[in-house]
Amino acid sequence: MFGAMIEPRIGYGYDIHRLKKGRKLILGGLEIPFERGLQGHSDADVVCHALSDAILGALALGDIGTHFPPSDPKWLNANSLHLLSDIWKMAENRQLILGNTDITVVAEEPKLAPHIDEMRSRLAKCLGAPVDRISIKATTNEGLGPEGRGEAISASAVCLLLVPGD
Ligand code: MG
Repeated sequence: MFGAMIEPRIGYGYDIHRLKKGRKLILGGLEIPFERGLQGHSDADVVCHALSDAILGALALGDIGTHFPPSDPKWLNANSLHLLSDIWKMAENRQLILGNTDITVVAEEPKLAPHIDEMRSRLAKCLGAPVDRISIKATTNEGLGPEGRGEAISASAVCLLLVPGD
């Protein structure tokens, strides 16, 4: 039986953005060479956005739009790794550490496998966590739906937040 102070918290997040010519493709804080990028008010990094929402979900503190409204010009082209870092401070302020996170990216192209480890290390640095607590998986959508037609890239994330043991 967990006491209130040592209760683990889980969270889930999902995001999708449309692919558009003339935009940089940023995933997990990393620029990935591709002829199109994700369209959005910020840099539209779906990996950071899904993970941010998972953390906020674990904290029951709303979602990324609550804290960084797209209507606010301050967040225009914002680096989503910085937004993630700000959100992570809310967990740290509650003395929580990252147990682990597992993220799935759905993209028909480009191939993400060569970039996964660099994304993991950027997220680990951002969250002050060992890289073995961060999993990123990439899959295609077998030609189905907006991701499968190459119109969009989506990501979903779960995370577990823990009170560190002594
Ligand atoms: Mg988003």
